[in-house]
Amino acid sequence: MNSAIIRELRRELGDEKVLGEPEETLAYECDSFAFHRHTPDVVLLLSSRDEVARAVRVAARHKVPFVPRGSGTGLSGGALPRFGGIVLSLSRMKAIREIDLDNRQAVVEPGVVNIELSRATMPSGYYFAPDPSSQTISTIGGNLAENSGGPHCFKYGMTTNHVVALETVLATGETVRLGSRAADCPGYDLVGIFVGSEGTFGVATEAVVKLSPLPESVTTFLAPFATLRSACDAVSAIIASGIIPAALEMMDGRMIAAVEESSIRTGLPVGADAVLIIELDGLRPALESQAERILELCAAHGCREVRQANTEAERSALWRSRKESFGAVGRMTHDLYLQDAVVPRNRLSEVVVRIYEIADREKIKIASVFHAGDGNLHPILLFDRSIEGEEARVLAAAEEMLRVCIDAGGTLSGEHGIGSEKNEYMDMLFDEADLEAMMRLRRVFNPQDLCNPGKIFPSRHCRFF
Ligand SMILES: Cc1cc2nc3c(=O)[nH]c(=O)nc-3n(C[C@H](O)[C@H](O)[C@H](O)COP(=O)(O)OP(=O)(O)OC[C@H]3O[C@@H](n4cnc5c(N)ncnc54)[C@H](O)[C@@H]3O)c2cc1C
Repeated sequence: MNSAIIRELRRELGDEKVLGEPEETLAYECDSFAFHRHTPDVVLLLSSRDEVARAVRVAARHKVPFVPRGSGTGLSGGALPRFGGIVLSLSRMKAIREIDLDNRQAVVEPGVVNIELSRATMPSGYYFAPDPSSQTISTIGGNLAENSGGPHCFKYGMTTNHVVALETVLATGETVRLGSRAADCPGYDLVGIFVGSEGTFGVATEAVVKLSPLPESVTTFLAPFATLRSACDAVSAIIASGIIPAALEMMDGRMIAAVEESSIRTGLPVGADAVLIIELDGLRPALESQAERILELCAAHGCREVRQANTEAERSALWRSRKESFGAVGRMTHDLYLQDAVVPRNRLSEVVVRIYEIADREKIKIASVFHAGDGNLHPILLFDRSIEGEEARVLAAAEEMLRVCIDAGGTLSGEHGIGSEKNEYMDMLFDEADLEAMMRLRRVFNPQDLCNPGKIFPSRHCRFF
């Protein structure tokens, strides 16, 4: 990038907010999808809406690409500065500006770490329901850009169901408010459009989000199964029964072993091919009959003994083992590729079996931990990049798994987004007219394609390629 632009950014923001040395910018070369890397020319550590607007106006004036970034835990290359340019780091914008319990809303800056909002509101009996497994580190700005899910989104809905209004700096540098704190905002649902736009429409600088009341009662079960297929069939049966658990999560045998060999071990049944974590919440009397029915359905699918978390400590340990299991599996392998796809829930067992067949045929080890209730699969392919050809082989197998999901009526991503990881796969789902309709919308918010270019859409739609 032209050094005059960097000088201009320093003048606008102050030297201490502008990182331009290679050793400073290297840390921003990728997000948690480390297959794609590109170092930005400059990283801006921004603390306010005005600073964001000033930075974006400089970028727009000089036609420099820029990328908003929260904590960089994204798993599809969303925060990757694909063509260099500017990374707008928002992690300093971490104020919870208002907690409005009367209206069950909170006003937050985008860099607030997800769990911090619940920590602030739980003493009053409320929490922020979207709970990605990364919630101890990922930001609400990143969550809304990716429309993140989490174990409890099965019952409570993805992030989009919990955002009511936004303040945004569009790619032109204009500040625009979307949505409203009152119900039934007139006009187009621009909050719905912005949420899930993967940082390609502009920068969210403030969000008004819903707070949910903590449930009166929670019951959590751990149900082991002898085969993955029977566990998947149990999930389909639970969904078909009409009961909506708060969470319905699956871990396969290799993931169970990874957890039990790590510091987050919690006594998972090593030797089982799969376990389901089933959580029910709500009013106590209703839970008893739901639990009874669910245990019957599990038994009908071969689950012999269900363990119940009897204390809050047991429940937390179980959830910790689930939410941190991705880290535990990292100990078993040099490299890993985490696939994210969705299938209709009545096709779950057939697709899961097919995925394991592909892995067996290719002699690739996989471990799985996933939001089974949503039909959101996460096979993790384990490999060693230093072996020649291994990365390409693993990516080809992962693509084949994705195609199986799509052929079964599923879709490309459940929650990690498309980013730079899957943009070339969009043709699997959409024809040119569909893509063009989405591109037109993008041009309204981001007319010069400067805001996070090279994401979501096939490269032929991006002028920087
Ligand atoms: C161990 C682990 C577990 C995970 N578990 C889950 C899970 O259960 N569910 C799930 O959905 N995801 C999960 N993820 C993926 C990731 O944590 C989420 O996508 C998360 O929402 C990203 O937040 P972030 O702050 O790290 O955003 P980043 O990675 O920094 O950015 C993600 C995207 O958001 C954009 N962005 C960031 N802030 C803004 C903003 N203020 N305005 C506009 N755009 C912005 C970026 O440009 C980028 O496109 C997991 C990741 C890891 C590493």
